[in-house]
Amino acid sequence: MFEDSLQELDRRHLIHPVSNFREHQKKGVTVLKSADGVWLTDIKGNRLLDAFAGLWCVNVGYGQQSIVDVAAKQMSELPYATGYFGFGSVPAIELAAKLVELTPSSLEHVYFTLGGSDAVESAIRYITYYHEATGQHQKKHYIALDRGYHGSLTTGAGLTALRVFHENFRVPLPTQHHISCPYLYRSPFQNDPDGLIAASVKELTDKVESLGAENVAAFFCEPVVGSGGVIVPPKGWLKAMENTCRSLGILFVVDEVITGLGRTGPLFACESEDVKPDLLTMAKGLTSGYVPMGAVMMSDRIYSGIADGPRVSSIVGHGQTYSAHPVSAAVGLEVIRLYTEGGILANAQSVAPYFEAGLTALKDHPLVGDTRQKGLLGAVELVADKETKRPFDPALKLSERIGSIGYENGLVFRAFSDNILGFAPALTYTARNFEELFQRLQKTLDHVH
Ligand code: PLP
Repeated sequence: MFEDSLQELDRRHLIHPVSNFREHQKKGVTVLKSADGVWLTDIKGNRLLDAFAGLWCVNVGYGQQSIVDVAAKQMSELPYATGYFGFGSVPAIELAAKLVELTPSSLEHVYFTLGGSDAVESAIRYITYYHEATGQHQKKHYIALDRGYHGSLTTGAGLTALRVFHENFRVPLPTQHHISCPYLYRSPFQNDPDGLIAASVKELTDKVESLGAENVAAFFCEPVVGSGGVIVPPKGWLKAMENTCRSLGILFVVDEVITGLGRTGPLFACESEDVKPDLLTMAKGLTSGYVPMGAVMMSDRIYSGIADGPRVSSIVGHGQTYSAHPVSAAVGLEVIRLYTEGGILANAQSVAPYFEAGLTALKDHPLVGDTRQKGLLGAVELVADKETKRPFDPALKLSERIGSIGYENGLVFRAFSDNILGFAPALTYTARNFEELFQRLQKTLDHVH
């Protein structure tokens, strides 16, 4: 009864992110009630194994009491402090310094946001300001990847290259461009990763040259394309993109909203290729989903251009009430302590082979065309024909069906619309959790087959 009335209230009043409004009203939602470790419990009492860390964010798992304690202490001591008018707070300053210590050495300054979309939006605004302040007004064009995701706010949504984020929203802008995603499985270079890297370098170079390098502000990319289907580029791709940007004289921006904070193995994916971006965005794992927070980091060159360029204005007019929120910052510090001193990052690295082995074993399944993995980020791509890689007819709505069969088997993952299943287990997963994940996934795929 309670469940029915909640469903009714939800249908009537709650707008859900990235949803079909009318279909949602027909179907309703799974109302979640509580969570512990890597398990969710819904309002009907079903226990579900979370193989997606919420929305690739609850990296430290649910029920970490030390985070609750830190947040409660901060709330009672100083629940809010503005960063405006010359004020600041202890946890915000300490978290900024911690992030500078932990990220690539090029990054020295941090602006805190509420999540990933506004981190990207802030990056774009700071880049624009930098170019204006340093007299490079013509640098207005942005390049990103097909299938890339950079949030759904006004400008970032145009860098995002997924159809639903554009339709009826009047993006991308004429100054926003996309080049091919390094999608090994569906490229002519499936068995030639170096060929794919060379093709990406050429495409970026051609695009910049066709626009004129003097007109291009920046190239944005994710180290692993997340929402576009967990596309893992070949090793060396990120470094090659950085080098290309450097030689063309355009800014190189890495969006680590998903990959940051241990998701792919190291604390930041940039580390694995010794990449030193001009700007880096992060969110999700920064507070592990316990409270909202994101960040954009920038090099001293960008900061100094904004501070001292020949055309600076009196004040850099970019800010939000909740930037550097002290409760979020305190949580961020505790989450980072759990990753490092708490051993969670080391756990993720030690269990990643179970994840890899489970995914690789699925390659033999008749529905599976490809599996991909980096650290604890992975995907299974389903195809109608393994030989030709022919995708399933979208009319079958297979992803949707698999998502609900997964739920019946007590497993939560993300079923993307093009029949790619995404996985982002918490970094606290054990070998036993992976066994449970793959048993449930196998059962789900067999049921569909
Ligand atoms: N950038 C990337 C790479 C993301 O994956 C996301 C969200 O999934 C965003 C930006 C937007 O972050 P948020 O949903 O916190 O606004």
